Amino acid sequence: MSRVLIIGAGGVGNVVVQKCAQTPSVFSEIILAGRTKSKCDKIAEDVRIRTGKTILTAQIDADHVSETVALIRSFNPDLVVNVALPYQDLAIMEACLETGVHYLDTANYEHPDEARFEYKWQWAFHDRFKEKGIMALLGSGFDPGVTNVFCVHALKHRFDEIHELDIIDCNAGDHGHPFATNFNPEINIREVTAKGRFWENGNWKETEPLSKSMSFDFPEGIGPKKCYLMYHEELESLVKHFKSLKKARFWMTFSDNYLKHLEVLQNVGMTRIDPVIYEGVEIIPLKFLKTLLPDPASLGPATKGRTCIGCLIKGIRRDKIIQYFIYNICDHQEAYQEVGAQAISYTTGVPAMIGAMMVLTGKWRGKGVFNMEQFDPDPFMEQLNLHGLPWTEITWND
Ligand code: NDP
Repeated sequence: MSRVLIIGAGGVGNVVVQKCAQTPSVFSEIILAGRTKSKCDKIAEDVRIRTGKTILTAQIDADHVSETVALIRSFNPDLVVNVALPYQDLAIMEACLETGVHYLDTANYEHPDEARFEYKWQWAFHDRFKEKGIMALLGSGFDPGVTNVFCVHALKHRFDEIHELDIIDCNAGDHGHPFATNFNPEINIREVTAKGRFWENGNWKETEPLSKSMSFDFPEGIGPKKCYLMYHEELESLVKHFKSLKKARFWMTFSDNYLKHLEVLQNVGMTRIDPVIYEGVEIIPLKFLKTLLPDPASLGPATKGRTCIGCLIKGIRRDKIIQYFIYNICDHQEAYQEVGAQAISYTTGVPAMIGAMMVLTGKWRGKGVFNMEQFDPDPFMEQLNLHGLPWTEITWND
């Protein structure tokens, strides 16, 4: 029985709260805090209707450590789940340190002025968390998150050594809008327009944004889709923790329509993150664009189709080279029926709840700052099957 403070009342925050409320044996008391309290209250009301459970809500600006500290002191949680934006990571980690409370997030820290994520800022907290006797679990979403756990599951149960990894993320759904992003538009567009980066033979290699692609035939009727090479944060921790990796890449599918809109927006400067003066006022074009685009949390009712996210792995098992694909398929409409969210929020929020469960039940225990692949994958994989994200494995000889 534990108390959890969830920060961030967006698409992902909604799913985390709903899934925690569905699991009262672990999460006995829940408080949802966000910058806009009305969003927290709306989620709380929906949780009450769906589960009968009452959760508390609070207004907070998590950029200010003192506000988070005060809320932690008044609610006294065992764990803080950060599903606000990556900009808040360091401030919330500071608040956890000051109050001696465990920390969990789903996205790596990024500075608002530079579209570049790196774990170094959060890994730098390791010694202070260790001294305080608390743990931080980083990247407990789907990718990062489940993809990291898939890798360690593969190494534990299917391979003697892993040599090549391709993480492949496909959203084969359609939301009916000419252009919308499935999670926070600002974070999404910063990620997609950044240079690609992959690991090969002991070095990081860079590619121009979305300049390298491949076709991948997704299982269970989804079929072949064009996937674009991108940099994604889990590559950094996986390369650090899996020393045998010779190649590690991340791929994502985009529709031609999404890419066409993105190209035009980039060409006219709407994706810029540096300030420009508009009628005497300083604005950041990408933040302005975000206010015009559909809120990802509102896409649920209209989004149809499925996502497929998985890890394609090549390595050695009993002196033979084998290939292996482990994946989850998630249906947008099924997610919407269950928790009122599309599958991108669902596939992120469910692993955040399971990661929280691992910490709170002591199945994953440590002092310091950890990535997902540093723990035993078995209890986490078991919970994925129980909480709406079942996984499937295919193995074949090379
Ligand atoms: P949304 O934009 O829908 O929600 C973010 C929420 O955080 C909003 O409610 C926002 O408040 C709140 N927020 C922003 N700044 C603050 C602040 N200073 N203090 C308190 N609350 C704040 O985003 P998503 O729900 O789509 O994404 C949430 C997180 O999940 C992001 O970090 C994203 O990168 C991550 N993610 C991870 C994935 C993974 O697989 N690992 C996949 C998808 C997303 P307001 O409404 O007032 O703006």
